[in-house]
Amino acid sequence: MNIVLGAPVNDRNRTVFDRRGGIELARGATLSTYPIRGPEHHFTTPDEAAFDAIALARAVTGALDDGNEKTGYIIKRSDGTFGYGYPYQLAGMNLSIPRTSSAGWDLKAAIDWPPPEGAIAMWHIHPVGGEGDNAANIYFGEGDVIAPRKAVNEIAMRMNRAPNGPLPAFDAYLGGSDGAVRAVRNIQSYPKTYDGRNLRRDKYILVGPGFFKLR
Ligand SMILES: [Zn+2]
Repeated sequence: MNIVLGAPVNDRNRTVFDRRGGIELARGATLSTYPIRGPEHHFTTPDEAAFDAIALARAVTGALDDGNEKTGYIIKRSDGTFGYGYPYQLAGMNLSIPRTSSAGWDLKAAIDWPPPEGAIAMWHIHPVGGEGDNAANIYFGEGDVIAPRKAVNEIAMRMNRAPNGPLPAFDAYLGGSDGAVRAVRNIQSYPKTYDGRNLRRDKYILVGPGFFKLR
């Protein structure tokens, strides 16, 4: 994947777009290549795994030109490393298949449910839209808090946490139409009914080594 290394131009904590809808970077940005490591790679951090998952999703979506949204989970393995491949049980069959993501337009839908063993975060990508879509497509949409909130509640139940006890840490990542990957930490701190569009911009943390060139 082609990526750009550099520091974003920040206008009072708001993302600035270049003429093609990518993130506007300060002078001195350089082109580079990001090698996709794949779902079974042993990543040191969830951020690295999420960036890789989103890179793969972008590569597939770009090759198919399907403009689709994709979503999946980040898992923590028993050896302490992170990845994004998980076994998925086919309904009604005693068979699980390896899975890295699913396609969908709306994160409100239960996708790859229930969350796989070891799930500690969710990621998804937004389509690369027209000019007017750029601002919207780099932040959460209406239902984007609901799916990870649902997942963390399910995981807490599975872990037999006491009612109203502390929930496990669970982050949500978004691959935006500007080529950036952003994380929202501790998604469980937002109410289940929270509209993702109302999430404060400064809650989004840029992660990864650079920014994808998506057009
Ligand atoms: Zn979304």
